[in-house]
Amino acid sequence: MSAYETLFRHVLFPAYEGGLRRRGTLGYLREYERSQWLPAEQLEQLQWRKLTRMVRHCWDEVPYYRERWRSAGVSAPEDIATPADYARLPLLTKGDVRAHFEQLIAPSHRAGLMFKTTGGSTGEPLRFGYTRESYERRIAAMFRGYGWAGARLGQRTLYLWGASIEQPLLPRWKDRLYHGAFNRLFLNAFVMSEERMGEYVDALNAFKPEVIVSYVAPIVKLADWARANGRELHRPRLVLSAAEALHEPQRAVIESAFGCPAYNTYGCREFMLVAAECTHREGLHVNADHLKVELGEAVGPAGGPREVIVSDLHNDGMPLLRYVNGDLATPSSHRCTCGRGLPLLARVDGRRLDALRTAAGHYVPGEFIVYMFLNAPGIKRYQVVQRSLEKFDVLLVPDADYDPSVQDHLRRELAKSVGDAVALDFELVDDIPLTPTGKHRVTVSELA
Ligand SMILES: [Zn+2]
Repeated sequence: MSAYETLFRHVLFPAYEGGLRRRGTLGYLREYERSQWLPAEQLEQLQWRKLTRMVRHCWDEVPYYRERWRSAGVSAPEDIATPADYARLPLLTKGDVRAHFEQLIAPSHRAGLMFKTTGGSTGEPLRFGYTRESYERRIAAMFRGYGWAGARLGQRTLYLWGASIEQPLLPRWKDRLYHGAFNRLFLNAFVMSEERMGEYVDALNAFKPEVIVSYVAPIVKLADWARANGRELHRPRLVLSAAEALHEPQRAVIESAFGCPAYNTYGCREFMLVAAECTHREGLHVNADHLKVELGEAVGPAGGPREVIVSDLHNDGMPLLRYVNGDLATPSSHRCTCGRGLPLLARVDGRRLDALRTAAGHYVPGEFIVYMFLNAPGIKRYQVVQRSLEKFDVLLVPDADYDPSVQDHLRRELAKSVGDAVALDFELVDDIPLTPTGKHRVTVSELA
């Protein structure tokens, strides 16, 4: 551990998180660092104890759940006696949260609630509330999860991150001072244009981070640009990807450009970090001592991706229980050889809305589309848009090496997976903008 890390962990961070802001983050971090090593059965019991408490709390204090569960035939919280009983409770959709916002708040926690809004990049934005305790626990769960890949508190960290559109490439001096004390630098991934790419490389090479935390699309773009322009990149110890699914071909691009391992993490604004890879990379460990993740029915053939359903175990002020966040993931019954008892997801498959379908019931995950384009030359960026079951519209941003014969190559690649059932319609465009929240959508489905 470097002197700075020691100072950070023992002095700076507690002063900020514990003293100045009266946060219990470090206490929760210690708690979570212990519980992750419990045997799987004990973790299941711990989760069930926490969930039972939450169910009782919701019945007593959150009007929405009491009414909803009553109409589903629950007459007392004791009726929800097993995880199987819990799994029969109604799901909570984003529409439910919008329609019943006030009834989802526990009145006794109303005064202390903080609020956040999810990005409205696709559909309407969603507002939700959380307590200080749950926020502190979320920060703790995030630090623990990043630690699984080897990132530690206080390490020099570069965030290639989304910020609001108006913000410049480098943050204001006040933010820089604050982030400087925390040994971290934020670069705005939203204003990452082709012309300014050199500035990003300069900033990265000057800061020399040990860890890079980044959205997937911007860091892949940076890696591609550096390779195409013969620029050397500083080598950090590791890269953590966040905010969108990291597909294997993208991982390979990042690892080769930065000469270090890249790890996948999975989270959403409503819950922050949900799951992350450890250095063994046998799947993503779920923060099962902090929240509950269930997987719903398969959206395609059995054994494939399923809908992600998340429940708060700690957010007493506005708990989201059995909340469908719109993502897909593939389960795993494997136990990780790292020895942590926390269960694994085999894979996170991206947003349900972005899954492409065929008339024959095939399901084409974003992962496949990324592979399909892997050896397609002359293409700067692409997006596959589904407007009907029979046809995918393929948007291509060509570069100087573009050759129209690449279209035949892509048709052959697609046919390997779904046969001739789907036609491809190509359209050359100047740009495919990132979403307002800084993500590049590989696939977009406009099917109902
Ligand atoms: Zn592990």
